[in-house]
Parts: sequence; C-alpha cells; structure tokens
Amino acid sequence: MLEKPLLVIDGVGFALSSALSNLRRSLSFRLKLLRYAMSSSSKSSSSSEPKKPRNIVIVGASMAGYTAARTIAQYLLPDSEYRIVVIEPRGHFHFTWVLPRFCVVEGHEHKAFIPFGGYLPAGSLEADGGKVAWIQDRVASVSREAVSLQSAGGEEIPYEFLIVATGAGATDSLPSRVPADDKAEGMELLREMQKRIREAKDLVVVGAGAAGVELATDAKSKYPEKRVVLVHSRDAVMHRFGPELQKAARDGITELGIELITGDRVVSEDKEKGIVMLKSGKEIVCDCLVNCTGQRPNSKLVAALSPTSISESGHILTKPTLQILDDSLPNIYCCGDVSENNTAHPNSRSAMRQAKIVGYNVVSATEGEKPREKYIPHWTDGGIKLTLGLDKSVANLGGAKAGFVIPTKEKNIALMSAGAWHKLGAKPFEDTGSEFLAKIKAKI
Ligand SMILES: Cc1cc2nc3c(=O)[nH]c(=O)nc-3n(C[C@H](O)[C@H](O)[C@H](O)COP(=O)(O)OP(=O)(O)OC[C@H]3O[C@@H](n4cnc5c(N)ncnc54)[C@H](O)[C@@H]3O)c2cc1C
Repeated sequence: MLEKPLLVIDGVGFALSSALSNLRRSLSFRLKLLRYAMSSSSKSSSSSEPKKPRNIVIVGASMAGYTAARTIAQYLLPDSEYRIVVIEPRGHFHFTWVLPRFCVVEGHEHKAFIPFGGYLPAGSLEADGGKVAWIQDRVASVSREAVSLQSAGGEEIPYEFLIVATGAGATDSLPSRVPADDKAEGMELLREMQKRIREAKDLVVVGAGAAGVELATDAKSKYPEKRVVLVHSRDAVMHRFGPELQKAARDGITELGIELITGDRVVSEDKEKGIVMLKSGKEIVCDCLVNCTGQRPNSKLVAALSPTSISESGHILTKPTLQILDDSLPNIYCCGDVSENNTAHPNSRSAMRQAKIVGYNVVSATEGEKPREKYIPHWTDGGIKLTLGLDKSVANLGGAKAGFVIPTKEKNIALMSAGAWHKLGAKPFEDTGSEFLAKIKAKI
C-alpha cells in the first residue's frame, strides 16, 4: 500500500481516469445513437415483422443489480432486440447503511425503504413502453437457459444473458439486513429491535465489524445508563481495515464506556438465567443479545449450476470482465457482495462500479462484441464512514495497511437517508413504492 501523499495522488488520478472513461463511453454511445437515427430514417417503413425480445435477466435489484439494470437500460439502442428482466422479491430498495442506527433510534424506520423505479432512465419500464420488465419474485433455480421463479407454478424465464446480483446476508437478520420483503413488515421488525434495546439493561453485541460497532455505540450514546458489552472474536475491532480505523473505532467504543471483549466469542445463551457464555468460560449478564456477525454470500443459485465457480468462502468467482469463472457459461455475469473479485472491502461503491462494468459488457455482447471492460479493484472502492455514537463518526479512506481517518460530526440523526433517496431518483420521503408495484403488476 502506498504512503499517504501518494495515496492522494493515486486517488485523484483514479477519479480522473474514471471520469475520462465515462466520457468516452458516453460519446461512443451518442455516436452509435446518431448512426442509428440516420440508418433508421433511411430504412423503409414496411420492414420485417417485430422480433420476439431476447432476455437479459438480472437476479436481485439492490446496489449491484439495480445499477446494472440502469446502465443497460441507458446503453441499449432503441432497436435492440433485447429487453431487461429484473427479478427482485423486495417491494422497496433496502438502504443498509442506516439499519444499525434505525435499530436504536425511533421514528425514522420508513427512510430505510426507498421506492423502486426512479433510478431507471425515464420511460424505460415496459409498462411505460420501454425495455425493462420488473418481476417481484425470487429466483428459485437457474439452468443454462432459464431461471425459474419461486412463486406458485415456478414460471420459467428464458435468458440469453444472466446477471447474478444476489448479495450477501440477505437471509440474515437485523441490523445487517431486514429479513422481510414487505416494507410494513420490515418497519415493524425495526421497531421490535428498538423496543428490545430500549427495555434492556444489559445489552451484548456480538461482532465488532461495522454493523456491530455502529449499533453498540449508538445504543450506548442514546442510553448511557445501560451496560453495553461488545464481543469480538479477533484481537482488533474492524479487523478487515487498516490500523488507523481500528484505533479510531476502539477509542470511540471505550470513550463511550462500552465494555470491549476481544479474542473471545459467544458460544451460547441461557435466556432463563439471563447470561451468555463465552468460549473462554466467562459468563456475561445479558437481557438483550444482538448478533452482528456472519454475512454469507447468496451464491446457491450458481453453486447448483457451476460448483467449480464457488470459492471456499461461498462467493462466486469471476473473471476480470465479471463473467463467472466457468468458460462453459460466458453469458453469466456476477457483481456485488456475492462475487469474489479481490475487492478488499466489498461495499456499495464497489458493487455499483462492478455493476456498471457488467452493464457495459453485456450491452457490447448484445451487439456481437466481446466483453472488453475489466474490473480492477482500487483502494478508493473501500472507503467507508463509521458512526461512533449519535453525533460522531470517522471517514476512512485507504486499504488494509495505510489510510486516512477523518473525524466528522454527525448532525443528521437519519444519517445520509435523504441523499440516498435523491441518488435513487426518489423524493425524500415520499413513498411511491405502491404505485411502482401496481404498475409492474398490471403489466404482468
Ligand atoms: C449495516 C450495514 C451498513 C453498511 N454501510 C455501508 C456504507 O456506509 N457504505 C457502503 O458503501 N456500503 C455499506 N454497506 C455495504 C453494502 O450494503 C453492500 O456492499 C451492498 O448492499 C451490496 O449490494 P449487492 O447488490 O451486492 O447486495 P445486497 O444489497 O445484499 O442485495 C442483494 C439483492 O438480491 C436480492 N436477492 C437475493 N436472492 C435473490 C433471489 N434468489 N432472487 C431474486 N433476488 C434475490 C435481495 O432481495 C437483494 O435485494 C453496509 C452494509 C451493512 C450490512
């Protein structure tokens, strides 16, 4: 890893080269559009019958899948024979970043559920005459030619290109993921967690990754009278990050008066006695245990089809073009948390960057070209902001060995919820989700 001044230069250089690549892509697309406009005006109107659309199926529409859908919808030519079919069981986009906060702080739950639709280019839904079909369902299995849906009847959707963006930990519980597809149910689960924490005297949080650190520090900051214990199996908290962030996190935890236990793990809980047992034999009084460990990749759809493309950790191995690492399946791509592509700290930024690359490559492939764009991990992908209580946070830029930690003040209790709504084309906090769902259902 580079030293700090070189990191800055490298980061600026990377941002510039990314901006230039985007400009190049945009110009080349405009040129294609111009050629298309000229050639279509010279074609006679009595041309051949419309052909049946060929499907680009996207499984999962969170950070990765939704961005892939947007990118492909932006870059498919109007006369393309292809259409995009997004399959996503959730009724709303789940904004994970705020989940630890909303597990503690009441009254903002609705802000974590962003209506779908606004991030797609205007008019691109099939219901509006565009090329994006959206199905609210879960994919149950994948074959070489089709995906089958989980809902009754198991309808099959054939594909020519498949993008797997099923993420990690989607079946896990709060505070890492909301285990509910319906917004009202998800909000209720958040309220239940708030109540459990509010009524607890002795809160034990397991796992000092980002979710555990944020939840524990928010809880202690809001309820200083409670005993909060944070248990972590490694010696360092935030152990995947560099030493500066580890230190900032440890300082923030201890300054709030949280008891930190490292190098040990919770092995069982006795709810009747109100204690948890640690591997070391230690017992801790506990009336509320919150598990913040274990985000598993949702790779089973691909594991059944191509077992050799699955890594030991359960991630889907990819080539630099983000096609899966199986030469017999060149039309299957993968991006985001479910994929293994050497990203040091998988997060939304890296998921979205990968999704754009998948989008460009799939569009090229629909035009008969080879996928050329490559995902090369860069340390700027891994930047995060870590809250350390209700009014304090640190921004971390850098990798595992060196980096910057910039202390910041948190003024907004709902963190960056409003910004995320804007980014995803939704007006904070006007929920148009049911209109979107009604529109896509009416189309089916
Ligand atoms: C508590 C927390 C805080 C975070 N904070 C930050 C942060 O501050 N900054 C940052 O950059 N990143 C942050 N992250 C990381 C970020 O949320 C993930 O990297 C990102 O969500 C990955 O996006 P994804 O699309 O790959 O997967 P996911 O977000 O996991 O989404 C997967 C999608 O696939 C769908 N799906 C799964 N299985 C199927 C199926 N069989 N059929 C159809 N659809 C399916 C799911 O419903 C879901 O919508 C945070 C994560 C957590 C847990």
